[in-house]
Amino acid sequence: MTISQNHEQDHWARFKGRLRSNVGEDFYTSWFARMDLERIHDDCVHMTVPTKFLKSWIQAHYADRVLSCWQSEMPEVKRVELSVRTALRSPAPARDARATQDARRTEPGAAPARPATELRAVATAPVSASHDALGGSPLDPRLTFATFVTGRSNTLAHAAARQVAEGRRGDPVMFNPLYIHAGVGLGKTHLLQAVTWAGNSAGAAGERKVLYLTAEKFMYGFVAALKSQTALAFKEALRGIDVLVIDDLQFLQGKSTQSEFCHTLNALIDAGRQVVIAADRPPSDLESLDDRVRSRLAGGLVVEMASLGEELRLEILKSRVLAAKTHHAAFDVPAPVLDYLARTITHNGRDLEGAINRLLAHSKLNATAVTLEMAEREVRDLVRPMEPKRVKIEDIQRVVARQYNVSRSDLLSSRRTANVVRPRQVAMYLAKTLTLRSLPEIGRRFGGRDHTTVLHAVRKIEALVAKDISLSDEVELLKRQLQD
Ligand code: ADP
Ligand code: MG
Repeated sequence: MTISQNHEQDHWARFKGRLRSNVGEDFYTSWFARMDLERIHDDCVHMTVPTKFLKSWIQAHYADRVLSCWQSEMPEVKRVELSVRTALRSPAPARDARATQDARRTEPGAAPARPATELRAVATAPVSASHDALGGSPLDPRLTFATFVTGRSNTLAHAAARQVAEGRRGDPVMFNPLYIHAGVGLGKTHLLQAVTWAGNSAGAAGERKVLYLTAEKFMYGFVAALKSQTALAFKEALRGIDVLVIDDLQFLQGKSTQSEFCHTLNALIDAGRQVVIAADRPPSDLESLDDRVRSRLAGGLVVEMASLGEELRLEILKSRVLAAKTHHAAFDVPAPVLDYLARTITHNGRDLEGAINRLLAHSKLNATAVTLEMAEREVRDLVRPMEPKRVKIEDIQRVVARQYNVSRSDLLSSRRTANVVRPRQVAMYLAKTLTLRSLPEIGRRFGGRDHTTVLHAVRKIEALVAKDISLSDEVELLKRQLQD
């Protein structure tokens, strides 16, 4: 069967309409905008796309739909053939179907096309440069494996990251994706950038291309690419890398970005490329992602980095001092000061770095040596008070009742005799100062009282404690009993 050119074009136009409504506008633009009709011959439709990647993508994910859209247009169609057309010049963005007769393409089955020029440009650009076509996120030269200190809390994450970094192109991928999660300042970015540096450093094993992107950059890159109609270039470029590293995945937002992320993830993993991800929570807690993505993320190796132990904090501090010494030879931090910092700055790695920076600045500006006293003064605000022990309202009621020799139900009752009123007020005051409960909640827990009653009690005891030493001692004693 051979049909006239005009008819062919009509079928083609209607087919595209069907496909567009079948897959949705976003996906249509992303994957099919540059698909052209070659010819319709017998029961087979021949179409072309500009790149190999696009061809295999469409075949892998959309073959059935493309065929069925053709069949609803022309029931006699039994097969669909897709081939890669040769690009003699860099392909223009989404072209009109009338360009079908363009001499640019080869017959179906011809040798695969050379990669499009924009793809090559991206693939050879140094990935660490922050403004190549893909917009890799900037890397901090200090965040390498050499400066990463290991301890109990991060051994596994570190080992896995090393393993990934040492892989060569074509090696079997052991865990994919590698998913690292931890709270703020516990070294996620450090580890991810170390992987990136290791992969991209000159002469590194197997010259793999590693791309480091924050989730925001991923979103931005994709959205920007869509706007400038180079979404394909973006996807092609993603395909040109061996290891994709995505930091702060919890920030990935928006339906179409997410489905794009999902596609990218699947495509890379299926193609045996390594994916490394960091986030502040485990995959199961990424509420905004859909189930399929979450399970894909959880399907590799998920490693948590726990908070930095004191030993690890000390080691990090030492390595920071050492690093500072390369530029400031006279700078030194005595061991007792390091111990003090490691013991008191417990929150995260960023504060440790901040502390050393302050000591350095202070000792340079004042040309003085670092002392314990100076350290205490300089880092005061970085020191978190020891977390107070969690105190329960029941415990408060029990301890107070015992102290004043009343029963717990007296405290909760509506009795207003003096021997119950005062202990009740003290208990409410302690509930307010030792727990994070709100006034209404405290009121509820004290026999369903109003929050203004609680507020009144708190103010009353505050005022009394300020002038009544024996009450103040009593309250102190109660606090100590509750907190020890
Ligand atoms: P995250 O990305 O998890 O919030 P970062 O990787 O940005 O944390 O780490 C915060 C700071 O703490 C950085 O300066 C980093 O170099 C340092 N840091 C954290 N963990 C380590 C470690 N194990 N060894 C050396 N430095 C660390
Ligand atoms: Mg980070």
